[in-house]
Amino acid sequence: MPVEQTLSIIKPDGVQKNLIGEIYDRFEKAGLEVVAARMMQLTKEQAEGFYAVHKERPFFNDLVSYMTSGPVMVQALAGDDAIAVYRKIMGATNPAEADTGTIRADFAESIEENIVHGSDAAETAANEIAYFFTDEGVCPRTR
Ligand code: ATP
Ligand code: MG
Repeated sequence: MPVEQTLSIIKPDGVQKNLIGEIYDRFEKAGLEVVAARMMQLTKEQAEGFYAVHKERPFFNDLVSYMTSGPVMVQALAGDDAIAVYRKIMGATNPAEADTGTIRADFAESIEENIVHGSDAAETAANEIAYFFTDEGVCPRTR
């Protein structure tokens, strides 16, 4: 399995519910290593840029309002098959369809307010990590 990096965001509802530690625990129990982290209050421009792929979707303006409604916790995660491993522990976009025991099944309120973001492929992961972190801001383990 390839060692990969993926970009994770604990969205404003996850931070509001005080779930940062709980969600980090799930990363670590799944074998994912936090290799970069920062808390941010996204600007409208940052949220629009991050979700630019969705700009023609009917939910885009609501999504930008949601993502700017409070601070987010942004992190890069590393590990074997990290992109798929992380998407598996997140669960489906719609929490009603998410597998039991996933982050979204356990904590999300709706298809929009769904607690976490995770990259969906290697190329998007690289672009999304670079959106928030410089090369020096990512610190893979040395021991
Ligand atoms: P993310 O990209 O945040 O990890 P995802 O890849 O599971 O989630 P996408 O299809 O990329 O889902 O949608 C991005 C985000 O837009 C979703 O996480 C959710 O917050 C919001 N969203 C997606 N579909 C809808 C919808 N039908 N109605 C409202 N919001 C939606
Ligand atoms: Mg997505």
